[in-house]
Amino acid sequence: MAKKPKTVLSLCRATGVLHLGNYLGAVRDFVALSEDPNAECYFGIADLHALTSLTDPEKLRPATRQVARDYLAAGIDPQQSALFLQSDVKETNELFWLLCNVTATGELLRSKTYKEMSDKQPENVNAGLLMYPVLMAADILGPQADLVPVGDDQITHLEMARNIAKRFNHRFGETLRMPAPYRKSSIRVPGLDGKGKMSKSDGNGFGIAEEPEAIWEKLRVAYTDPARQRRTDPGNPDLCPIATIHRFVSPKDDVEKIEDGCRTAGIGCIDCKKILHGHLSDLLAPVRARNQKLTDGDVSDALAAGATRVRTRFQETVATVRERMGL
Ligand code: ADP
Repeated sequence: MAKKPKTVLSLCRATGVLHLGNYLGAVRDFVALSEDPNAECYFGIADLHALTSLTDPEKLRPATRQVARDYLAAGIDPQQSALFLQSDVKETNELFWLLCNVTATGELLRSKTYKEMSDKQPENVNAGLLMYPVLMAADILGPQADLVPVGDDQITHLEMARNIAKRFNHRFGETLRMPAPYRKSSIRVPGLDGKGKMSKSDGNGFGIAEEPEAIWEKLRVAYTDPARQRRTDPGNPDLCPIATIHRFVSPKDDVEKIEDGCRTAGIGCIDCKKILHGHLSDLLAPVRARNQKLTDGDVSDALAAGATRVRTRFQETVATVRERMGL
């Protein structure tokens, strides 16, 4: 008998243009997973979650659609996988409320992310920040996900979703499938400013569908090991974000050549950046090509089809949960 595909669910924050870090650290793996015949993938864009931070409505809508567009450009095939907006799945809200009643308040109050977020925006410690993990549990348990790709920062939220499912099943009988973490690649792409990881909020990266010329303008002025004041000064590739990105995208021979050249001042920073630019252009050429062909209509169609598919899964779960809870 054919093996039943595993249901994979991943949610991404609605933050606008996806950068190289998002691509190498997450989206590229999602594309590979979506091509696995043993996986049925659901990719959600978490616009409801975005509301917990002060958001400008004029910015949220385009940012949400941009993520959808970049997922498609990255190679997610909407015929194969469901790409959807969290806010299009009305059933999430119903499941959220039902699950609130099997969620321990203490666990929510102890959440590290809640504490961090309330420190970050003390002027707006809204109830949404506190309830965030229950909404995430609804996102995961609604489509009965088997696997959830998570990084270290999200592992405690997944643990809370598992606790909620366990408590529900214990009280009302086996209903909700227990989701397991799918460890995604743990690479950390550094920002071009040399100050930490590439991140949307720090504006220290570039979009995956940007033109090569625009990417070059950002690479050209990127931070490198400050020890290399002059072309003849040797450097240390371990202190240079450009060298680190080379390790993720360039062939082994080139990596060895540039690292050796950096240590011996055999290659200048601009030449090293040019080599990286060439490899990045090759890597991202298919993304750019798909992006050029995508229309707004394609994005809307993909999101509508994805929402229909995921809602069907949610409706089954919500109907059983309601019934078991006595509604
Ligand atoms: P950002 O930090 O730019 O706001 P998110 O926190 O929304 O990005 O992350 C979306 C996904 O991309 C997550 O799976 C995260 O692990 C991955 N990611 C984000 N930045 C990087 C990076 N610099 N290197 C590797 N992966 C990253």
